[in-house]
Amino acid sequence: MKFVSFLQDGHPCVGLLNPEQEEVHQVVLPTGTPGPSSLLAVIQGWDRATDSSVETVGHGLPIAGLELLAPIPRPACNIYCVGKNYVDHAEEFARSGFDATGNKVEAPSHPIFFTKTVGSVVGPGHPVDPHPAVTSALDYEAEIAVIIGRGGRSIAAEDTWKHIWGYTLINDVTARDLQQRHRQWFLGKSLDTFCPMGPWAVTADEVDATDMDLECRVNGELRQQANTKDLIFDIPTLISTLSAGLSLEAGDIIATGTPAGVGIGFEPPRFLQAGDVMSVSASGLGTLTNPILREV
Ligand code: MG
Repeated sequence: MKFVSFLQDGHPCVGLLNPEQEEVHQVVLPTGTPGPSSLLAVIQGWDRATDSSVETVGHGLPIAGLELLAPIPRPACNIYCVGKNYVDHAEEFARSGFDATGNKVEAPSHPIFFTKTVGSVVGPGHPVDPHPAVTSALDYEAEIAVIIGRGGRSIAAEDTWKHIWGYTLINDVTARDLQQRHRQWFLGKSLDTFCPMGPWAVTADEVDATDMDLECRVNGELRQQANTKDLIFDIPTLISTLSAGLSLEAGDIIATGTPAGVGIGFEPPRFLQAGDVMSVSASGLGTLTNPILREV
């Protein structure tokens, strides 16, 4: 199943997407479930449901006419992220000189975790603010993100797949100069609008995350292209490492890292400019397109 979040009469709603008909049917939560119609509520109820079907109401709404939001517009906690999780990207990052944690041209021996704030999340089509007063080194990072369905702590690698609800796409937009200057990745990756997410969320049964193609285009030009087979630390390793001593909860999001081809991988670097259009795609997950806001 593919879920979208959208605005209807100014209120956020969740819907089930029928990709063939390009229509969205609004989801109704089971009777007695508190809270508004949101994908987070659907996921939180997933594990308790005796059957995983969802009820919808009303006629199909053409997706083209909807104002889409990020699938989870306001996650319950920061988005977990992984740095340097593709060999080629770890090498280009080291060569670029922007890695203040140490410019060693080698893959990490353990996963590198950081987070992005919940306030940085925006939906498909939403402009990314280039923050010209704060940064002059704006970069893109195409990533596949895991959405946790069943929380837990000390999740064993072999049990990982039972804890995953589904997947979506994230563009881990980064201010490279802030990332370098502050010697920690949080700030440079958490500015407002720096976490485009979407265009929808796909349940785990619909895709094979162990063999998923990922790419990123800027103004139509192919910049990044990889497969999840190329991950240094695969999804079970990431979840088992992250959850050892840290409780994951339903609806938590883990961005799995970006492959080579980001702006700092070029000489000279090709930083994003106002008006550029970024498109992140993966097999089964659709295409997440966001422009860089033109200065006004
Ligand atoms: Mg990243």
